[in-house]
Amino acid sequence: MHKIIMIKYGELSTKKGNIGLFLSTLKKNIENNLKTADVQIKFDKGRMFVIPKKDNYAEVMRILKNTFGIHEIDIAYEIASDDLQVIGSHVLELLKKQEFKTFKVVTKRSNKNYPLTSMEISKKMGGIILKNIDNLKVDVHNPDILVNIEIRTNASYIYFEKEEGIGGYPVGVLGKGLLMLSGGIDSPVAGYLSIKRGVKLEAIYFESPPHTSVAAKNKVISLARKLAIYNNEIKLHIINFTDIQEAIYKNIPHEYLITIMRRMMYRISEKIAQNNKAKVLINGESIGQVASQTLSSMAAINEVIKMPVIRPVACFDKIEIIDIAKQIDTYETSILPFEDCCTIFVPEHPVINPEAKLCQEYEKLIDYKNLINVAIKNHEVLKINTEKEKTNNLL
Ligand code: ATP
Ligand code: MG
Repeated sequence: MHKIIMIKYGELSTKKGNIGLFLSTLKKNIENNLKTADVQIKFDKGRMFVIPKKDNYAEVMRILKNTFGIHEIDIAYEIASDDLQVIGSHVLELLKKQEFKTFKVVTKRSNKNYPLTSMEISKKMGGIILKNIDNLKVDVHNPDILVNIEIRTNASYIYFEKEEGIGGYPVGVLGKGLLMLSGGIDSPVAGYLSIKRGVKLEAIYFESPPHTSVAAKNKVISLARKLAIYNNEIKLHIINFTDIQEAIYKNIPHEYLITIMRRMMYRISEKIAQNNKAKVLINGESIGQVASQTLSSMAAINEVIKMPVIRPVACFDKIEIIDIAKQIDTYETSILPFEDCCTIFVPEHPVINPEAKLCQEYEKLIDYKNLINVAIKNHEVLKINTEKEKTNNLL
């Protein structure tokens, strides 16, 4: 009998058309995430199994619980036999170590050639338990212990507790998206929600040194590192936005500063996405949160690009967004008080209903195409891992 971690991906198996791609992506992600954990991984139709080579079950479980596409994780005992007497003797050995008065046996039988039905197996196993351990009762509604038996083609499994996985789709199965990652609360949450839907992220951050500090950039790197827990590794594109922002500030009526600045961000983001084979942009815009996020603002900003923009938190209240930020442990980092490039050039009265036509007129006042090309040509790329050492000791 071997102790083993059994992984179930429930919902995935219903996605008939894409099942092959879903499973191969999940396999690859599990292998990647557990690369340094010293485990053996086995695959069987409908299940994956992880066998830690040392006693690091807690670490392995923690990693698997953050792997999207996994719906249930069980610590199970594997038996190389489907003989009920043999399985029964192991069940008894395991049960004798536990305190309980009532139980229920639940059986799954993926080996459909097995001579007994699931119900018959459960009944027989119940009989073996009652015969060998005194003072027990079966309780089908509210048992102290659930004895789960799975008879599979290659082996049989016993487990007692089910741990919920994080769900979602395996990361990357839907392709790549480019997250506009600021140091705020909303964009890391938007990133997390997209990863959960199977989108592999790259991120882009606009900085304006010396108006923005190294601390602000490091904050974004820390946030990217938190997202890397789910995304495996994040390629972070850092754009020096200073010249563009100063040109806007000097030449454009101040009520339009933010609208035009965001149009520039969108243009650059779309180009970086295209150059890196990302299919969509993702950002943390939320309807009505600030002047640049009214519907007219969104329309005036969005018109400069063709690529779809996904706004996962568009309809969430700030409180709902904060709740998720706390769950994924980005909140405390996001509220650190470092100036972002959006906050330093904020006009007193930003326009609430900007007009795209006026934006186009104002933009003629700056040589933005050239500025954008230079910013893209000189941009910095960091690969952010969950482990600090691999990030060039930036933090
Ligand atoms: P957040 O929305 O992340 O809390 P914020 O409120 O400071 O940050 P907004 O001004 O609301 O940002 O901008 C809306 C969205 O635009 C952000 O969620 C983010 O996706 C993107 N964005 C803003 N500033 C930057 C930046 N400096 N670099 C990259 N993306 C940015
Ligand atoms: Mg915001």
